[in-house]
Amino acid sequence: MKPLGPIPAGFTALDGELAIGGRKATDLAVEAGPTPLFVYSRAMLRSRVAALRAAMPARLGINYAIKANPYAPVLEFMAGLVDGFDVASAGELAKLGEVGIDPARVSFAGPGKRDEELESAISAGCTINLESEGEARRALAIAERLGVQPRLAIRVNPSFELRGSGMKMGGGAKQFGIDEERVPALAREIIAAGAEWRGLHIFTGSQALDAEAIIETQANVLALADRLAGEIGTILPKLNMGGGFGIPYFNGDTPLDIGAVGAALAERFAGLPERLSATELCIELGRYLVGEAGVYLTRVIDRKVSHGQTFLITDGGLHHQLAASGNFGTVVRRNYPLAIATRFDAAPEEEVNVVGCLCTPLDRLADQAYLPHADVGDLVAVFCAGAYGATASPAEFLGHGPARQILA
Ligand SMILES: *Cc1c(COP(=O)(O)O)cnc(C)c1O
Repeated sequence: MKPLGPIPAGFTALDGELAIGGRKATDLAVEAGPTPLFVYSRAMLRSRVAALRAAMPARLGINYAIKANPYAPVLEFMAGLVDGFDVASAGELAKLGEVGIDPARVSFAGPGKRDEELESAISAGCTINLESEGEARRALAIAERLGVQPRLAIRVNPSFELRGSGMKMGGGAKQFGIDEERVPALAREIIAAGAEWRGLHIFTGSQALDAEAIIETQANVLALADRLAGEIGTILPKLNMGGGFGIPYFNGDTPLDIGAVGAALAERFAGLPERLSATELCIELGRYLVGEAGVYLTRVIDRKVSHGQTFLITDGGLHHQLAASGNFGTVVRRNYPLAIATRFDAAPEEEVNVVGCLCTPLDRLADQAYLPHADVGDLVAVFCAGAYGATASPAEFLGHGPARQILA
């Protein structure tokens, strides 16, 4: 037997079934159409942002990094909850435009921005987080040609990183940001060229569950921003402090203590150096905001035994849930939180392997999991599916097509 990850708090049983947003899994599956489907809970999105706001200093803006989940109804809903949005492509910027989100609330980071992407972002008035000197010069030239003042910030590649983070995106040689010692000269250059100076972006990593690591990193980020502002020689209008708040996916993971992070940040904010006293401060989060609010529902199509092991074969799989299959940035495969949605309050009684319908042995949703008995027709729920699910999985692989999505 192998343990399953912890089911996020807030899911309950209704008539023996998993309920999401107060509605039974089978009803949601009927409404959305054929399985598999992703269900995102409005109530959980709302309470997650509310809890975060309650824990963080009021001065701290909260941005949503939409690559975690760019489903249009989710974006629309988040627009009423968060302060800003972070995108990583012109395609993502267009998605925000389609649901009527003001580009002035958006910043655009990411390496390899094409000229057409810079052009659409500059003409829309979104802030560009510059990733290199070359990109800065292209952005300035494009703005001049368009006859507009571009809003430019610099993404810093700091010399430190977020300890214990799942995916390191700062420190050492990186394709992200500009090495910290080269930032002041570039900032002075873009200010002298007449750009609207929008400050610094310092993102150091992802998926951290250790509050102490985040506290330490945030202190380092504030100190670095202060030092760079001094070297640049102007006030810093804005500092995007990055994010990295993680969620528990695996057995033994414990939730991040946001109370501790918020308290430490409030102390820092109370004693900010002069140069940061008027700076607009924000964090940018993806999975922390949306990850636990999403559930992937897939139906058992077949049940079979091979060499003494039972397999539940579902109509879903890694083409929608690459991360749960263990093939998205994981070294050792471990089970995500998973349940039989149609027998949510039943006691576990058998060890099974839950797999997808793709013709590859990589397509596994749970290995040797101890679960209630499930038959053909039952629904399986994979939790923590609200982030890096639908759009971070190879939906075209093997031709089954994308999963439906629904905001409940
Ligand atoms: C991916 C990304 C995020 C979001 O990361 P999460 O782990 O989902 O919070 C935030 N900022 C930047 C720059 C990113 O690339």
